[in-house]
Amino acid sequence: MSTTARAVHQISRPQGFPTAADFAFVAGPLPAPGPGTALVENLYLSVDPYHRESMDAEWELHTPLEGRAIGRVVTSRDPRLPVGAIVFHRHGWRTHALVRPEESRVLKPLPGVPLSAWLSVLGGTGLSAYVGLVKIAQLRPGESVFISAAAGGVGSAAGQIARLLGAGRVIGSAGSAAKVRHLVDDLGFDAAFDYHDGPVGDQLRRAAPDGIDVFLDNVGGDHLAGAIEVLRDHGRIAWCGAVAQYNGGEPPAAPRNLYDIVGKSIRLEGFLVHEYGHLQQELEDFLAPALRDGRVVPDETVVEGFDHVVDAFLGMLRGENTGKMLVRVGEG
Ligand code: NAP
Repeated sequence: MSTTARAVHQISRPQGFPTAADFAFVAGPLPAPGPGTALVENLYLSVDPYHRESMDAEWELHTPLEGRAIGRVVTSRDPRLPVGAIVFHRHGWRTHALVRPEESRVLKPLPGVPLSAWLSVLGGTGLSAYVGLVKIAQLRPGESVFISAAAGGVGSAAGQIARLLGAGRVIGSAGSAAKVRHLVDDLGFDAAFDYHDGPVGDQLRRAAPDGIDVFLDNVGGDHLAGAIEVLRDHGRIAWCGAVAQYNGGEPPAAPRNLYDIVGKSIRLEGFLVHEYGHLQQELEDFLAPALRDGRVVPDETVVEGFDHVVDAFLGMLRGENTGKMLVRVGEG
């Protein structure tokens, strides 16, 4: 086992799009677990859009960062975290972490399902898609659903979950022709479009001539306005994120057609996945059979090596990922 632990620290606040110079890699001796803790060697790290928001104020400079991670217990001073156990915790952006049982979850791997899935479709990402569609939008069989940032982590999970729920037409938007092909050819979307190719409302209307019932929004701005245009009466918007505005500048003005929400009796509701942690087992029970028989695939871009965690984060913000962006830092 290595005797050195490495961590990424944020060292400056970005103006606009962050750069590698906002981070530093810091090495130190492996920490030793005290009573009630275990030393975990991280295997997979998650880099997420909300980390960009954390960079503005929430993350302290020159300290280890917060982030979802999966690792293996290598030394333990608590029987609830036995050596060899695979655990989920939130001390990411580092190779090793001291973890307490009450802030971690011992995973029960499912046959045929890769460990990384607990950071993608079975993790907070999949849970966001599930909560948005099932609890917030209350998608019913036969209804049409539009998903923005559909080729990302939440989006790719949402498209597949919508199919399992018996959605009628499933439509996605994404940032490149290759992603659009991936949505239709690999993930079972009925239609998809590149949002660079024209106004979202116009493209969505062509993809869903009869309108949509549900919109799971990961982008905000022009996507929200376009979806309001095409939503049917009594449609629902589950607002999950607004990745188009995380990198600074003036946030987009409210959609000019916002008042159509009244005219069409649309329900718009935002949500934060951390308030739905109690649904983790429900998500696993719902997805496990479909993961086993291949109706759902964990859609992931896995970057190799701890040295590339910052590159993976910046790449995700630029749209270089297909599915959930993860970093593999150890042998799973
Ligand atoms: P992701 O979609 O895997 O990665 C971010 C994607 O955003 C990129 O791949 C890129 O794809 C797209 N993007 C970047 N800039 C954009 C822009 N200006 N316009 C349109 N698309 C842009 O990330 P994720 O983790 O699945 O998160 C997706 C959204 O869900 C984010 O808004 C995130 O904050 C939100 N979220 C919310 C919760 C919650 O609790 N409410 C939980 C998890 C995630 P393209 O190539 O398609 O542009």
